[in-house]
Amino acid sequence: MITKTVADNQSQALQSKLNAAIAARASLEEDFKAQSCLLIEFINKLSQVSKGINLTLDNRLAQLRGLLTKSAPVTDIEIKITEISKLLQKHTVTNEQNITHLHNQFKDAGENLQKVNGLPNDLRRKLRSLMVDTQATKENLTQYVPLLSQLLEFYNIALRSKTNIPTSELSTTDQQSTLNNVAAGGNENTSNVNGVLIGQVSECLSKLNLSTQHTKELLSINKKLLKDTTNDDVLQHFIEIFDVIVADLQNERDSAKNFLNTLSKTLSTVQSAVKKTLSTCENAQSVNDEINEKLQEQLLEMTGTVKKAMSLEKVKIDINSKLNSIALTLEEKTNFEQQNQQALSNQLNDMAKKVEKLEKQSHQFEAKLAEQQRKSMQDALTKLSNRAAFDDYFTKSMVRFHHKPFDLALVVVDIDDFKNINDTYGHTAGDKTLQVIANTIQNKVSKDAFVARYGGEEFVLIYSQSKEAALIKELNLINKNIARLPFKFKSNKVSITLSMGATHITKEDNIHTAFERADKAMYLAKAQGKNQVIYS
Ligand code: GH3
Ligand code: MG
Ligand code: MG
Repeated sequence: MITKTVADNQSQALQSKLNAAIAARASLEEDFKAQSCLLIEFINKLSQVSKGINLTLDNRLAQLRGLLTKSAPVTDIEIKITEISKLLQKHTVTNEQNITHLHNQFKDAGENLQKVNGLPNDLRRKLRSLMVDTQATKENLTQYVPLLSQLLEFYNIALRSKTNIPTSELSTTDQQSTLNNVAAGGNENTSNVNGVLIGQVSECLSKLNLSTQHTKELLSINKKLLKDTTNDDVLQHFIEIFDVIVADLQNERDSAKNFLNTLSKTLSTVQSAVKKTLSTCENAQSVNDEINEKLQEQLLEMTGTVKKAMSLEKVKIDINSKLNSIALTLEEKTNFEQQNQQALSNQLNDMAKKVEKLEKQSHQFEAKLAEQQRKSMQDALTKLSNRAAFDDYFTKSMVRFHHKPFDLALVVVDIDDFKNINDTYGHTAGDKTLQVIANTIQNKVSKDAFVARYGGEEFVLIYSQSKEAALIKELNLINKNIARLPFKFKSNKVSITLSMGATHITKEDNIHTAFERADKAMYLAKAQGKNQVIYS
């Protein structure tokens, strides 16, 4: 009974550990869901900020948003983020290629300009320094490339108009046909750059999205451009325009580079955060909530910036610093989660060890129980089955018999005059005698017979396959064997005999009637002189 309580307690402990593990897992899933929502929002903001930089990038970000909304597997999300990071890198390379193309255009235009005789020294110097400056300007946002190309084209036309050099010798751009139309207008008046061209340049300048300072400068140059119509002045203004653009480009380059770098850094932080986000544990929830709140705030702030900002330029600067702080918070979150993961994994290891120990204990416990069970059915002195085992075996046999009758027989055995042995030679001699008799009976009975010590100097046998004659024959033989045993007490040879009552079970029998009949038969054997078998 006591051992059963221990087993119950162990099983309850295991059950509660299992429940705790299930709860921990549910909390992990919950947390992951929350973090996914946050990530979706974050990616939305990233999409807003980087929209238009590159079409494929836009697409990938849209796909990533889709994956996150669908709660796709983390591995898929990781793949998408990696793709986006690669695209950003590729984008930087494309930028560089565009800029190289632009350089070549600058270079060609500059070289052609150098060929022009009578160019003021000052202008020549500015041109050279512009060429050196732009040589160093290797990075930029793509928005400048087409506008600068167009401006260069106009510059070529203005130059040709001044020198009357045919377009084919000067032009370096791909947009020849469009610009030829403008140039055609210029051909009518070769001494002055025509109004159409200047109008085009003005329009082109208005499309440029420069910083406030540079925009102001451009506006004043533009004003002068509209007033002055001599070729020299126009060329001079063009050079000034390039100067302003190059200066702005330099600023823009720094902020753009910074922006793209931060973007990809943030993406890799997000990437590792996603990887590690699966791990957290229940008691960390409040700290996690705090960090999440902080992230929410930062994201909201970022949205506010995007809405309020008047120019892309402004957005980029603001977003950069906000992305930085978001990245820091994400890192903080990742570190925190790492610690939790460690704690959780320690906890799980600890749990696993405990479960292992419990399993071991439970195995030992089972073996002990089995041993106890075996012992509880065995007689300590003779090692035969005991009375409880007999009751069990006989009950089951009776059930089987009533289900389908077979040759079921019961034999009650009692040692004759055993009290004398005890009285004459002592209790220990009696015990040893009991052991020898038990052994002999067990060894002599046929295989199918079940032997038990019923109590004191009485034994019971159950036969399952023996008919009356064979049974009586076997019992007499056992009796003979016992009688022949050479017992010697205090140098006295002693013969020990048995009295047996045997019976076959009938359909009308129950356990008690069958036992009584066999017992009565045994007593009859006693009454008829002992050392005999009576079948009833
Ligand atoms: P009967 O032939 O009529 O059966 O005579 P008996 O002496 O065998 O019968 P009785 O019931 O008078 O005595 C049985 C004796 O068996 C009594 C007791 O001392 C002895 N006995 C019972 N159990 C044990 C035991 O475990 N060890 C020893 N040494 N003796 C036992
Ligand atoms: Mg007796
Ligand atoms: Mg007896």
